[in-house]
Amino acid sequence: MRIILMGPPGAGKGTEAESLVKHYHIPHISTGNIFRELYKDKTTVGKIAKEFIDRGELVPDDITNEIVRHRLSHADAKKGFLFDGYPRNVNQAKAFDEMLISFGWKLDAVINFSVPDEVIVKRISGRRVCEVCGAVYHTENKPPKVENICDVDGGMLIQRVDDMEKTVQRRLRIYNQQTAPVIGYYEEKGSIIHVDGTKSIQEVDQTIKKVLGEMN
Ligand code: ADP
Ligand code: ADP
Repeated sequence: MRIILMGPPGAGKGTEAESLVKHYHIPHISTGNIFRELYKDKTTVGKIAKEFIDRGELVPDDITNEIVRHRLSHADAKKGFLFDGYPRNVNQAKAFDEMLISFGWKLDAVINFSVPDEVIVKRISGRRVCEVCGAVYHTENKPPKVENICDVDGGMLIQRVDDMEKTVQRRLRIYNQQTAPVIGYYEEKGSIIHVDGTKSIQEVDQTIKKVLGEMN
């Protein structure tokens, strides 16, 4: 399976990605997670990326595409993959097409999560992530068993700097200007599945697995 999850920030892509990658035994490739890891590892690229991320802007395409190209060359990508948060503009979508051609691969599904802005703001303001493993929670919709503590490894749950309200508005603007046109790009290719992302985590998961299951 080669899948892309698209949708505004906070739409639920990462949450659904965790379920799908377990189901299909494929790697989860989140460019946002890769940038956060590169920053944690104190790399130069990570430090450059963090400046853009904290401002709510997209990391430049040359850096992002190079990271994706490199990630695709890992052996595990041969069995398939799930992209979450890439491509985020039409230039990246075109670069990604070229990468896929060079590897001789085709996408199986592009899934778009539709979620209105008011829901997005509530989701992002309640999002908490484990500072150790990055697991994602929500104060109301997906609380940890013990407040502020990760169920997986006992790490502290924190709020991402870019999830602060002022930055969220900018991210939404950038999403509408730069990322939303990617939906049209894939629609023209006739290969996009729209999902109502306002449903519960379980309902979204069931719907997507059903659609993907019917494709096989
Ligand atoms: P969210 O889950 O809220 O959509 P991500 O973890 O996917 O956020 O991304 C966090 C930030 O990382 C983005 O706001 C952006 O600054 C940067 N980023 C992630 N993916 C890309 C990409 N494909 N192109 C450019 N910047 C990216
Ligand atoms: P994205 O990766 O698209 O930025 P996340 O998966 O991180 O989104 O989800 C954003 C926040 O919303 C998280 O706090 C998550 O726990 C919560 N969430 C995800 N999916 C749903 C859903 N279907 N219903 C309610 N809350 C959700």
